[in-house]
Amino acid sequence: MITAFSTDYHTHTIASGHGSFDTITDLARAAGKKGLRILGITDHAPSFPGSAKESYFRSLLSAPKTKLGVEMRYGVELDILDPEGHVALSDELLSKLDYSIISLHGKVISSMGCEDNTRGMIAAMDHPGVLIIGHPDDDEFPLDLEKLLFYAQKKRVYPEINNASLMPGAYRRGCKKNCTEILRICKKLSLPVFLSSDSHGAKHVGDFSYAIELLSETGFPEELIINRAGGLYPPGI
Ligand SMILES: [Zn+2]
Ligand SMILES: [Zn+2]
Repeated sequence: MITAFSTDYHTHTIASGHGSFDTITDLARAAGKKGLRILGITDHAPSFPGSAKESYFRSLLSAPKTKLGVEMRYGVELDILDPEGHVALSDELLSKLDYSIISLHGKVISSMGCEDNTRGMIAAMDHPGVLIIGHPDDDEFPLDLEKLLFYAQKKRVYPEINNASLMPGAYRRGCKKNCTEILRICKKLSLPVFLSSDSHGAKHVGDFSYAIELLSETGFPEELIINRAGGLYPPGI
């Protein structure tokens, strides 16, 4: 079983407007304690109620690249806004951030139906810097996973196995079943996955325990986990 990880690419600070008062520095400290080499900060885009404005994401362009000995990456968790894959930040800004996560959130839109949810996700992969498909594991937003992951592979975007989705009491539904299906398809395609904490605040930074449990249960190959220690690094991040 894998126990060492180099990175957590999906975390939120106080700037997301819910779930925590912790700052970027608080999260960097937690990442250092967990032994992570790199930490990715991905606050919710301005389309998410209560989250930061565009000016926050623009200010991240000049934020320190190292904090408390941890290499920092600054990105955003984008909401898919429609079946055409529109998002709330401009391609100009997205091309300057380190990377983005694309997600469907019930606080932003209602499900558009399986076909259009999938279409919106695939279209959004074409924005600059999109790297990760955020929690495509929620019964509230049905997806054609075979199709989604086929295009992900073509466009060099990678699904995450989201630890927060798999925690007891998680608010997304059907996640274990859906993550098992994601892992089955990724294994078939040899498509690598990220494990992510989706920690709101410092508390769960680098915590992939439930994701690891599912990977063991499903016999998912270790070499397809991008952010294990010594693992693959996608170009550009
Ligand atoms: Zn999310
Ligand atoms: Zn998130």
